[in-house]
Amino acid sequence: MKKKVVFIINPKSGIGKKSIVEKEITTEIDTESIDFEIIHTKYRGHAKEIAERFSGKTDAIVAVGGDGTVNEIGSALVGSETALAIIPVGSGNGLARELNIPLRTSQAISVINNMYTRKIDVMKLNSYYSLNVAGVGFDSFISHKFSTVKRRGPLQYMRLITQEFPAYKSQEYTLNIDGHFFKRNAFLISFANSAQWGNNIRISPNAQVDDGLIDVCIVANFPNYAVPALLVSLLAQAIDKNKYDEIIHAKEVELMNEEPLLGHVDGEPIMIEPHSKISILPLSLNVVVPDEEFFKSSIFSPLREIIPQFQQFQQQISQFPFTKIKQ
Ligand SMILES: [Mg+2]
Repeated sequence: MKKKVVFIINPKSGIGKKSIVEKEITTEIDTESIDFEIIHTKYRGHAKEIAERFSGKTDAIVAVGGDGTVNEIGSALVGSETALAIIPVGSGNGLARELNIPLRTSQAISVINNMYTRKIDVMKLNSYYSLNVAGVGFDSFISHKFSTVKRRGPLQYMRLITQEFPAYKSQEYTLNIDGHFFKRNAFLISFANSAQWGNNIRISPNAQVDDGLIDVCIVANFPNYAVPALLVSLLAQAIDKNKYDEIIHAKEVELMNEEPLLGHVDGEPIMIEPHSKISILPLSLNVVVPDEEFFKSSIFSPLREIIPQFQQFQQQISQFPFTKIKQ
């Protein structure tokens, strides 16, 4: 029987190549095995509404957008048999990278043609779902600031970080992590389902999306002289080895804040009410991912074999500067 797939395109996300993407979908989707429909979003939250409408009625819903679009569609599909697929056209592409979904559109479409699925965990923070990384602290502060900036791009983002960093004050947080109380003066606290924020910048290098655990990553308040070492460990995928970083595995975390906090889920700015809870819903989301065969046949695999450093090189060039950009 033919599979049914809905593509949801966010025309505002990513780097403005939507019309090309739409053409590629139309020409490269396997119409022998797949019936498809393409819908464009018109406002924030629209992707979620569309996905809710099609949940349970289609085999997959494809997020053609960045991490925000992925979050909206994934949130609508928690607990549904309908799978989330991704054509990553954002600028961070955190979850897509983590699931080994190719960044090249034609390859991402062939992954969808193949329709191989697996289940992953999803985190729930109050009424929000987070597929990738949620948190409080400096990165949340920046994502709130950035959402008010008119002209948004990597340069503006970098400028914002360098402007705000010197004056940013770490905060006291009290956490109840699976029944144990922690008081920490932290620069940021991330709740990681996947290992990375995006662009292969890993806040918790060993996080697994299917182990039923939240990686609570606490970056302690650090002196200025520790900045270079912290940056290097972040870029070397080894922040967990830095002495200012602490990672605790958890099933449920309570944020015991008295005041509302600036937070983010998958990079989108949100307000976190006093006494908030974050928990994990194990294996609650179906996702379309490449299977082993895909990797064997991928045009990248010969390159990977010939040049072992190829992947590392790819990562290094995508890591600098910090380019987790919200659109
Ligand atoms: Mg996990």
